[in-house]
Amino acid sequence: MKSMRAVQVDQIRKPMVVRDIPVPEIGDDDALVRVTSSGICRTDWHLWNGDWGWINVKLPLPIVLGHEIGGVVERLGSRVKGLTVGTRVCVPFNMACGHCPYCLKGLQNDCDNFMWPMLTPGSGGFAQFVRVPNAQLNCVPLPAKVTDKDASALGCRYMTAYRAVRTRAELRAGETVVVTGIGGVGRSCVEIAVALGGQVIAIDTKLSALEAAKKLGAIEVINSEGLSPKQVGERVKALTGANGVDVGIDAVGGSKATLTTLSALAKGGRLVVVGLTSQEDKGELNFPIDEIVAKELSVIGSLGNPQAEYPDLLRLVESGKLAPSRHIESEVGLEDVQAVFDRMPTFQTNGFILVTQFNQ
Ligand SMILES: [Zn+2]
Ligand SMILES: [Zn+2]
Repeated sequence: MKSMRAVQVDQIRKPMVVRDIPVPEIGDDDALVRVTSSGICRTDWHLWNGDWGWINVKLPLPIVLGHEIGGVVERLGSRVKGLTVGTRVCVPFNMACGHCPYCLKGLQNDCDNFMWPMLTPGSGGFAQFVRVPNAQLNCVPLPAKVTDKDASALGCRYMTAYRAVRTRAELRAGETVVVTGIGGVGRSCVEIAVALGGQVIAIDTKLSALEAAKKLGAIEVINSEGLSPKQVGERVKALTGANGVDVGIDAVGGSKATLTTLSALAKGGRLVVVGLTSQEDKGELNFPIDEIVAKELSVIGSLGNPQAEYPDLLRLVESGKLAPSRHIESEVGLEDVQAVFDRMPTFQTNGFILVTQFNQ
């Protein structure tokens, strides 16, 4: 097969186009993966919206977005070891080089040569095939019980949540935790925090999101519609009967969500920020630094999840303790991706929307 169907961005904020483009060529260290499941994520929308120039992100146009990839190895470069054609794999969005100081430390998510699939030509997931560079590291084989749809979640939102809650926040059983923004990452954070024994309070402005959080085991929910960050903080304190929570996870990003989460923390609390900002903040926030000092708060960033930590995560999914597929809202075709993007600015999407039809 020489050509494939893909969704291409020709210009920032202009409707994307479904068209036939060449199947990517692969090099000796690469794999060609047939995509069977591709999640539609707010990160893709941000890039289509022209965000993140302030951290030197520039979309090479035209480009295929999509970075939550589950699929099957179709072809392998001559130097790739440990993978075979036909293996089902997940592609972590933090594709890494394998040889820089961070990769050698097992922190592939901090790789000096970090490659986002949707910023790497030929690797964007809204297509029938993707080229996965350095395939030995960047194709993670799936155990039999982990589905291709699970793999999409494990390529971004779910592994992001796992690292934020378990590794960066170091959540311990019995601790209280606020999760702000119950979208794809937020729901995964609630589920993982509950599985680790956390007492979760979920914050969102949408009733459907709060109901979803309750179903996943949140003990309390707060509708933050019309409330200032401080007012939400007061509610959290009233609910916990303490001076706030031990851990706050901001799963959205931007001043409102970050400051709301910060205001919910008790003394010594840890704020983990997963979401990046958008056009309103352009990467800059006003932080209440005196409060951070006086309460000995920690502010921690979290990005992706190292390939080296996948075995633990896959074991938890295999055992049924974590179930990424639980968050699927709907399955769509390549031609529907733009319509899903159009619902994102007003947060009308609920949970996980997957492209699973590629060749209509
Ligand atoms: Zn994503
Ligand atoms: Zn590296």
